[in-house]
Amino acid sequence: MRGAVIYAPGDVRVEERDDPKIIEPTDAIIRISATCVCGSDLWDWRGINPVTQPTPIGHEYCGIVEDVGSDVTTIKPGQFVIGSFFASDNTCPHCQAGFQTSCQHREFVGGCQAEAIRVPMADGTLVATPEPPADELIPSLLSLSDVMGTGWFAADAANVRPGMTVAVVGDGAVGLLGVLSAARLGAERIIAMSRHESRQRLATEFGATDIVSERGDDGVARIKDLTDGVGADAVLECVGTNESMTQALRSTRPGGFVGYVGVPHGVNLPGEDLFYSHVGLRGGPAPVRRFLPELIDLVWSGKVEPGKVFDLTLSLDQVAEGYRAMDERRAIKALLRP
Ligand SMILES: [Zn+2]
Repeated sequence: MRGAVIYAPGDVRVEERDDPKIIEPTDAIIRISATCVCGSDLWDWRGINPVTQPTPIGHEYCGIVEDVGSDVTTIKPGQFVIGSFFASDNTCPHCQAGFQTSCQHREFVGGCQAEAIRVPMADGTLVATPEPPADELIPSLLSLSDVMGTGWFAADAANVRPGMTVAVVGDGAVGLLGVLSAARLGAERIIAMSRHESRQRLATEFGATDIVSERGDDGVARIKDLTDGVGADAVLECVGTNESMTQALRSTRPGGFVGYVGVPHGVNLPGEDLFYSHVGLRGGPAPVRRFLPELIDLVWSGKVEPGKVFDLTLSLDQVAEGYRAMDERRAIKALLRP
């Protein structure tokens, strides 16, 4: 089969790789219908995360089950399934509490920019759609594997409730879907922080009521202006830099929550600032598996269309162009068809 391998910063190639095989009796093999490039893949592409050896890359997937191991009971060949980037048993105490990305048996599902993958703990990890989807639903279903599940978790972790004022830091695909999630959860006012016109448009389409293009002190001052000096009830941090975390913290009202889902790079929050802010922080790798049944329902019934964040569709062979386009911010998110 063909699959993408990263060799070095700026060097992702599609090459012939071994077909995935059932190794454990709890595995499933999925024939990929669509996959995509994640903002976090760009950390490798840019050389911020070191690439020490050629590594299969990609962690977002959906597709048709081709084969299952002898212990798999709920997932069956022929089903269209979506799963998280961390496989989970969905039975341990952390899974039961809804934090499947901290599963005691979690395994990263890598190498998904490929024609097929092996998914461990198939019964715990994968959720099937009611039937194989129409082609136009596939981008939205794919988004549930990470980007939409992560935007949703940011809103959930920030405790978004009906009537709230929510600010979203970051206008990448996760931030934009954080806007959509906050709107769906009943936020009355949603302030999207974005400097890019095409992204501002999509944020507005997803439910943003205000756009703030300033950053840093000016950005915080604008949020305060828009909230009568109070700050936002909930802030979704979808970048992961020290600047964005600081901005999120300072934009939140005392008693409010920050949901942070950008993978931190160089974040150092002073304890004293945290102490006097009275702001609650919760985040981490999104427990996408918790949200999959509800989000599949929302997509299936046409209530949300998170697949709109894919503004570039390429064949798997063109994967490097997907990375380049996202790195240069020519594309919000690239979808790949094997
Ligand atoms: Zn578990």
